[in-house]
Amino acid sequence: LRMQLMKLASSLSGQSEKGAVPKTYDVEAIKNALNSGELVNYYQPKVRVETGEIVGVETLVRWHHPVDGVIYPNQFIGAAEKYGLINHLTQTVLEQAFAQAGIWQKLGCDLKVAVNVSMDNLTSLDFQDTVVRLAAETEIPPNRIVLEITESQLMGDERVLLEILTRLRLKRFHLSIDDFGTGHSSLTQLRDIPFDELKIDQGFVHHASKDVTLRAIYDASLALAKQLNMEVVAEGVESREDWELLRQTGCDLAQGNFIAQPMPAEELGGWVKKWRA
Ligand code: C2E
Ligand code: CA
Ligand code: CA
Ligand code: CA
Repeated sequence: LRMQLMKLASSLSGQSEKGAVPKTYDVEAIKNALNSGELVNYYQPKVRVETGEIVGVETLVRWHHPVDGVIYPNQFIGAAEKYGLINHLTQTVLEQAFAQAGIWQKLGCDLKVAVNVSMDNLTSLDFQDTVVRLAAETEIPPNRIVLEITESQLMGDERVLLEILTRLRLKRFHLSIDDFGTGHSSLTQLRDIPFDELKIDQGFVHHASKDVTLRAIYDASLALAKQLNMEVVAEGVESREDWELLRQTGCDLAQGNFIAQPMPAEELGGWVKKWRA
């Protein structure tokens, strides 16, 4: 059943619209991108379903390639992990995210800023020092920063992971379990790791209003998160029907193209004005 669910989720997660022939990039190309500042953070709003207010954004990195145009993370994150460049990459993403959070804070806009982190980031010795230092330098309270970790990465050495995540939580950073429903987290992990937020994978969100199997998984994930006192985010909200389902079922937060696509920081202010109108 697990395997079937995973296949179902990945077939529904809509990667196809991003082009059929993904080009791959080698280690030199990615190093060069990192060193020449071609990796740019985009931000996608997370809004509260009940009130419509924007509560935060998720950072999604884009590569502004001088020849190939805008490159999506599925074409280079895996390679960066494989070539040992993911710590450098995440450092770049974090620096931009904290700096941007500081700009929003000065504008009186206390958005929570989420960053995707890989297992190699968490297990690297200086990750915690880096986030603590960036928070201090930019005067962003750590509880305004959300670290998103995909459920599939929670496999590895459970004790080590528990210790790392608990230490980050004690420093007040918020933790989010991403792509929930597509990985192998155990109920024990969900109980022991102090997650603040659970993100229901988009594969179980869009069309859940029309498909009983998806709906069952969506409902179960929502109930589990509520029981464990986590804030629930539905990802990949693409239509009015999706949004209505979240409203009817009491899902806390929504993220997806129905609300807004990921955008450069400069565009967020304009989007907020339109969204409020
Ligand atoms: P994710 O963390 O699950 O991010 C959500 C993905 O869904 C993003 O794809 C986003 O653009 C896309 N999305 C948002 N709303 C909708 C919607 O309504 N419909 C559909 N079909 N898709 C939607 P993106 O930006 O291509 O990123 C893909 C994955 O790459 C992310 O999945 C995340 O796992 C990874 N990623 C992105 N940025 C970073 C990063 O800075 N560091 C690391 N380690 N991974 C990253
Ligand atoms: Ca994420
Ligand atoms: Ca996700
Ligand atoms: Ca995903």
